[in-house]
Amino acid sequence: MARIVMKFGGTSVADLDRIRTQARRVESEVEAGHEVAVVVSAMAGVTDELVGWCQQLSALHDAREYDTVVATGEQVTAGLFAIALQAAGVEARSWQGWQIPIVTDGAHGAARIRSIEGKELLRRMAIGQVPVVTGFQGLAPDGRVATLGRGGSDTSAVALAAALRADRCDIYTDVDGVYTTDPRIVVKARKLARITYEEMLELASVGAKVLQTRSVELAMKARVRLQVLSSFTDAPGTLVVDEEEIVEQPVVAGIAYSRDEAKITVRRVPDRPGIAAALFGPLAAANVNVDMIVQNVAADGTTDLTFTLSKSDLPRARQLLADAREAIGYAGITADSDVAKISVVGVGMRSHAGVASTMFRTLAEKAINIQVISTSEIKVSVLIGAEYTELAVRALHTAYGLDAA
Ligand code: ADP
Ligand code: ASP
Ligand code: MG
Repeated sequence: MARIVMKFGGTSVADLDRIRTQARRVESEVEAGHEVAVVVSAMAGVTDELVGWCQQLSALHDAREYDTVVATGEQVTAGLFAIALQAAGVEARSWQGWQIPIVTDGAHGAARIRSIEGKELLRRMAIGQVPVVTGFQGLAPDGRVATLGRGGSDTSAVALAAALRADRCDIYTDVDGVYTTDPRIVVKARKLARITYEEMLELASVGAKVLQTRSVELAMKARVRLQVLSSFTDAPGTLVVDEEEIVEQPVVAGIAYSRDEAKITVRRVPDRPGIAAALFGPLAAANVNVDMIVQNVAADGTTDLTFTLSKSDLPRARQLLADAREAIGYAGITADSDVAKISVVGVGMRSHAGVASTMFRTLAEKAINIQVISTSEIKVSVLIGAEYTELAVRALHTAYGLDAA
C-alpha cells in the first residue's frame, strides 16, 4: 500500500467528461489499496479569464482582490471532482486552502506555502476517504485567501505530498512527460525517462511550464518522489530524480523558452554607488521580480541599465520607476514586451565548454539578434525578438543533437 498525491491540471479537468475520467483513475488507485489525496487546478481557461477580468478593470488592481477572484476556479473543480468520485462510489470530500489550512506568506498573487496541517486529511485517508484539495491557493497571515502564482497547483501538490509524507506525487497533465523541449513547438522533441531535480528546476525557472519552479524546489528539498505523466494515456511518464540516478548524462538536457518577458531600459542613470539599490529596491519591495540585468557605462559618467521582468509586472514596474525618478535621476525609460527568453540547460555544462558558443553561432546562422545574455552554472539564456522564438528553439534543439531520430 502506498500513499499517493495525484494532481490534475487544467486540461485534464476541462469538462465533466474529463473529470469523470480522472475520477476513474483515482478510483483504480483506491481499489488497488492505496491512500490517495487529489489536488486539482481550475478547468482549462478559467484562470486566464478570471485574471483577464481583474486586468480589464484595473491594470494596477489590488493583489488581495485578485486572489479573491482567481482562487475561485479551483473551488469549482474541487467540488465537482468530489461529486464525480462520490458518484463512482468513492468516499470523497473537497477542501479549500483555508479549511486545511494551507498556510502561506502574505505575498498575495505570488504567495509561498509556509506549512500544511495534514492531521485531519491523514485521519480521513486512513479510513478510505479521498480529500480533493484546491490547488493554487492557501490562507495568508491577514486571514485572506492567497494564490501561489500561475501554475501553482503543482506546488500545492508537492507541498501536500511532503506534509502527508506521501510515497509519490503524480502530476497528471496534457503531455506524457518532460521533453527535451516543449513538444508543442518542436515535433522532434524527445521524452525524457528521467531528469535531475537541478535540470528540472532550471528548465522550469526559465519557462518550461510543465512544472511550476517552486514545486521542483520543494520536491528537491523535501525529497518528494515526483512524476509527470499523461492524464490521457497510460504511457510511462518522466521521473524527477537525483543526479546519481542518471547514468548517461548529456551536456544539454533541454531547451526552454518564455514569452512572458518584458525588457526595460533606464537611460542615463548617474554612475555612482547606491543607484542599483535605489532602482531595484522599490521593485523588490513591490514583489516585482527582476531577471536578467545588463549595465553599460557611457563616457559621460552615466549608465544605461537594462533588465527583464515578467510581462504582467510591466505596468507596475513603470509606475514604480516613474515614482522614483527624482530619487534616481535618470533621463528616460523605454520598455519592450515583444521579446522572448531562450535557455539551454544541462548539468553537463559544469564539465563541458562550448555550450554558449554553440548557442551564439546557431542564432547567428539564423540571423537572430541577441539582446541580453545571462548564464548560470548549468544554463545559458538569451533574450531575442519574440517573433524568432520557435525558429530559435528548433535550431538549437538540432544544434545540440536533441532531435528524435
Ligand atoms: P497543466 O494545466 O496540466 O498544469 P501546463 O499547461 O501547466 O499543464 O503544463 C503542460 C504544458 O507544458 C504542455 O502542454 C507543454 O506545452 C508545456 N511544456 C513546456 N515545456 C515542456 C517540456 N520540456 N516538456 C513537456 N511539456 C512542456
Ligand atoms: N489554475 C492556476 C493557473 O492556471 C493554477 C494551476 O493550474 O496550476 O495558473
Ligand atoms: Mg501547470
